[in-house]
Amino acid sequence: MKNKGLLFVVSGPSGVGKGTICQEYVKTHDDSVLSISATTRAPREGEKHGVNYYYITNEEFEAGIAKGEFLENAVFCGNRYGTPKKAVLEMLESGKNVILEIEVQGAMQVRSHYPEGVFVFVIPPSLKELENRLRGRNTETDDVIKKRLERAKQEFALCEKYNYILMNDNLGDALSKLEAIMKAERCYMPRNIEFIKKEFC
Ligand code: 5GP
Repeated sequence: MKNKGLLFVVSGPSGVGKGTICQEYVKTHDDSVLSISATTRAPREGEKHGVNYYYITNEEFEAGIAKGEFLENAVFCGNRYGTPKKAVLEMLESGKNVILEIEVQGAMQVRSHYPEGVFVFVIPPSLKELENRLRGRNTETDDVIKKRLERAKQEFALCEKYNYILMNDNLGDALSKLEAIMKAERCYMPRNIEFIKKEFC
């Protein structure tokens, strides 16, 4: 029997580098895939529909909620974001680990209907470093950066609801830590007990 994949939820303040960690991780681990969210935010330069996000209108987003198409959804700095449910469940069923790179409100919704998920919170080495990274991205206005930093403080307040903290001080180390978390979770007793009882008891 094929094992179902595990659901990993990765959150952390804007600018912490969680997007890069998740994208790099799936490039080198073909047992894991990154879920593509829907958003009402406008694409940033270089972003592509169906690759970074599905860029949809507010009306399309509302219709998706009404039809129960999202596993979770949230508003972040004035834009809406949601995880398409069907694609995630199909990928888990096919045995892939699925990574959701989402903010905290959505993560808490996932935790309430999918408690067997693994919740990872990415932190920067310091708040100052986070601000430098957000400014260095050059993709947001000053006003948006301020909003995102304010929001970051609210997000830190929820980090103890997560199972793991992953400090992103260096991409290579962050990737090794994520790989270690994934391996450990596969070996976690409750995920294996059914197999052990069937095979050995
Ligand atoms: P950005 O606009 O920088 O791409 O994303 C803003 C925030 O929205 C990030 O914290 C990102 O993790 C989060 N986000 C992206 N997709 C989703 C989603 O499907 N659901 C939720 N709740 N948050 C998301």
